[in-house]
Amino acid sequence: MNTHERISSITIVGGGSAGWMAAAALATYLGKGASIRLVESEEIGIVGVGEASVPHIRHFNGQWLGIDEAEFVKRTQGTIKLGIQFNDWGRIGDSYIHGFGAIGRSLGPLPFHQFWLKLRLAGRAAPIGEYSPQTVMAPLGRFAPGDRNAPAHSPLADIAYAYHFDATLYARFLRELAQQRGVQRIEGRIVGVNQRAGDGFIESVTLESGQVVDGALFIDCSGFRGLLIEETLKTGYLDWSHWLPCDRAMAVPSERVDPITPYTRASARPAGWQWRIPLQHRTGNGYVYASRHVSDDEAAATLLANLDGRALADPRALRFTTGMRRKSWNRNVVALGLASGFLEPLESTSIYLAQSGITRLLGLFPKRDVSPLLAERYNRESVFEYERIRDFLILHYHATERDDTPFWDQCRTMDIPDSLRETIDLFRSDGRYFRNGEDFFALPSWVQVMLGQRIVPQGYHPIVDEMPEDRLVEHVEDMRAMLAHAVAAMPTHREWIDRYWKAPAP
Ligand SMILES: Cc1cc2nc3c(=O)[nH]c(=O)nc-3n(C[C@H](O)[C@H](O)[C@H](O)COP(=O)(O)OP(=O)(O)OC[C@H]3O[C@@H](n4cnc5c(N)ncnc54)[C@H](O)[C@@H]3O)c2cc1C
Repeated sequence: MNTHERISSITIVGGGSAGWMAAAALATYLGKGASIRLVESEEIGIVGVGEASVPHIRHFNGQWLGIDEAEFVKRTQGTIKLGIQFNDWGRIGDSYIHGFGAIGRSLGPLPFHQFWLKLRLAGRAAPIGEYSPQTVMAPLGRFAPGDRNAPAHSPLADIAYAYHFDATLYARFLRELAQQRGVQRIEGRIVGVNQRAGDGFIESVTLESGQVVDGALFIDCSGFRGLLIEETLKTGYLDWSHWLPCDRAMAVPSERVDPITPYTRASARPAGWQWRIPLQHRTGNGYVYASRHVSDDEAAATLLANLDGRALADPRALRFTTGMRRKSWNRNVVALGLASGFLEPLESTSIYLAQSGITRLLGLFPKRDVSPLLAERYNRESVFEYERIRDFLILHYHATERDDTPFWDQCRTMDIPDSLRETIDLFRSDGRYFRNGEDFFALPSWVQVMLGQRIVPQGYHPIVDEMPEDRLVEHVEDMRAMLAHAVAAMPTHREWIDRYWKAPAP
């Protein structure tokens, strides 16, 4: 490429996790040819919640940024996340785990859950949670990252897991790394955004101090407000709160209690749900709720009444609207993180969405003319990704038998997107699930959550009846027994952390 075609300066606005993730990745892959600057304001601060992740973060940290896993966990007071335990969602008293990774082992063209369905109906199989490593390990509080000596096809060869971590410490850690790789940090509040006459491209931002910071490409990581993408470019927002009615969260840290569970807990509450995320130095908690159905004071009281340990601060309220920008890439601005949209935190997908936006941006990285073709492709893929995750989240609320509060009545009886209706109908008839393209949540996630929320298939795939039932019982039972045996020999989560990843006291 001719050097005059290259983007030579990139300005990132905002230094929360999204901003510093972008800065670290861009510095690693583009830092030689472009100057990268990040403007942030300590006075404004960051959201600072966002403590649970999905397994893809391991790839981002390890493969992309070359971060040592033990260092990351120690620096962020991290713990292991094998999945999410959902309590009281289908009915009060229900509990299931949505674990990462596969369920059992397929036979020929059939996924495991298909023949499990037949055996379960015949009373010859255990609950589905007994057939994947994560859902066996999590409630027993055990952890090992995979067995190098296991055969490649063994579910124990590579265990999918993610982390819980302190989001503020993660941003700080990435900031250090990005600065070492050449990113220039500029402290100050942006008070003006300057556009080019004619096409409205952003030319520069002006800080309170009068300093002007220019750029050929701007990455808007300014949080919910979307300083460039919305306040300046008026891009518009797709509001999905009619499907995902929670619009506030009350968050509070509490004292750590043992044992530190290797999973997030999401407990349904009268007007939403409460998270519990164990870190090494404290536990993160929050009540995500619909302000139409409960006041802030009531939400705070419910949250405080349901902590496992002593609260370490007063509850902090956060407001949001679930949805996404009509375009995440508009002119020469690419919005990442909360500036590009927010899918409420039920499945901890926000940090992943920032990661995926960065991956997409690097794949479609523009030249100086910032081709609209690249932007269109970027936006189309973002919408696809958000909509598929949105459907998965709606599933959790809608697939319930609860009718004990107006909130749950609303969720149970609401209209849902046609795409989700079709997925549920297909599963309900005979347990079939088909992944849409690069859908973020794959078959095991959908199957676990649909079963966990009491969508019971009326039948199973016809091919199952072609297989001898005793052979199926043997296959399923071998898997269950092997997992039970292997997991019993694993160290506890606590032992693992103390041995390899113990963080210094804060
Ligand atoms: C209740 C709740 C729970 C969540 N839980 C999870 C979770 O479990 N897992 C997960 O993956 N995600 C979660 N998230 C999302 C997660 O918090 C965010 O995705 C993540 O923190 C990234 O935020 P951000 O960097 O986009 O924005 P922010 O953290 O808000 O950062 C914005 C930055 O922009 C800067 N800025 C803004 N305006 C200006 C200005 N005028 N001048 C200069 N600088 C400016 C600020 O100083 C700040 O540095 C949750 C979010 C909420 C609200």
